[in-house]
Amino acid sequence: MYQIIDGKKISQEIKDELKEKVTALKAEGKSICLAVIQVGSDPASSVYVGNKKKACAYIGIESLAYELPEETTQEELLALVRKLNGDSKVNGILVQLPLPKHIDENAVIQTISPEKDVDGFNEKNVGALCVGSKGFVSCTPLGIIQLLKRSGIEISGKHCVVIGRSNIVGKPMSLLLLRENGTVTICHSRTQNLKEITKQADILIAAVGKPKFVDETFVKEGAAVIDVGIHRNENNKLCGDVDFEKVAPHTSAITPVPGGVGPMTIAMLMYNCVSSVE
Ligand code: NAP
Repeated sequence: MYQIIDGKKISQEIKDELKEKVTALKAEGKSICLAVIQVGSDPASSVYVGNKKKACAYIGIESLAYELPEETTQEELLALVRKLNGDSKVNGILVQLPLPKHIDENAVIQTISPEKDVDGFNEKNVGALCVGSKGFVSCTPLGIIQLLKRSGIEISGKHCVVIGRSNIVGKPMSLLLLRENGTVTICHSRTQNLKEITKQADILIAAVGKPKFVDETFVKEGAAVIDVGIHRNENNKLCGDVDFEKVAPHTSAITPVPGGVGPMTIAMLMYNCVSSVE
């Protein structure tokens, strides 16, 4: 029988631990403030931003919301980021992605002060992860490490295969697994004989961005499978990069969609905010 890794429960545990920490920090006179910037009114982004505000309120972090119109120029956005960089009251800055097409996302990310870059996307933080020094780490991969650890899944010495090499998920995921002493293989769209490689995985991470891409033919019997994907199927129901029904019986542990990796991303954003003060 396989274990369903409960991201909702684990993320709640983390948020409760953080709530306690924030209460203790407040008793020492320290407060935490996250600035969240959204440009335009993309419905999915509005849901994410709303959830982030809710999580802040639950934990006791102050959130400042900047809802800017779609036609905001890059210079205007950069000016706001620079102002928040210089505001000592603000500990973390988050710019909700994707941004409208006329704005260069990378220019915005690189303008956020590395000390306030709670998404962990700034080159300085990515570099820190690479060389193993302190810095903010991208929230989704950070959450996956917590899911594995808190579910009792050993990473050290295990063959971890990551499908996907994006800057937000695949690459930081691979570096974190390496930091945990996993033996890591990264696969991408040019990988040859993909299934031969994924079938060697003790831990398989699917961050492909394609609904139900991974079926049972990709998975070694007894592997742990983590599904990062989020999609809506033809019936408007959420599904992942993994075909859960087909894959689950062959695993020792697997994350569902929804309720697996998704809830962890916000919990780890809160973790990064609290660490920025600690
Ligand atoms: P992405 O930027 O589109 O990257 C997808 C990766 O998959 C790329 O590296 C691509 O390879 C690789 N790929 C595509 N087709 C492939 C194939 N046929 N065989 C092997 N590799 C293939 O996506 P992402 O931002 O990393 O996100 C991945 C998924 O996670 C998406 O569904 C996204 O919505 C979801 N996501 C969820 C959360 C969460 O909180 N749960 C957070 C972030 C993302 P190339 O590099 O060669 O193109």
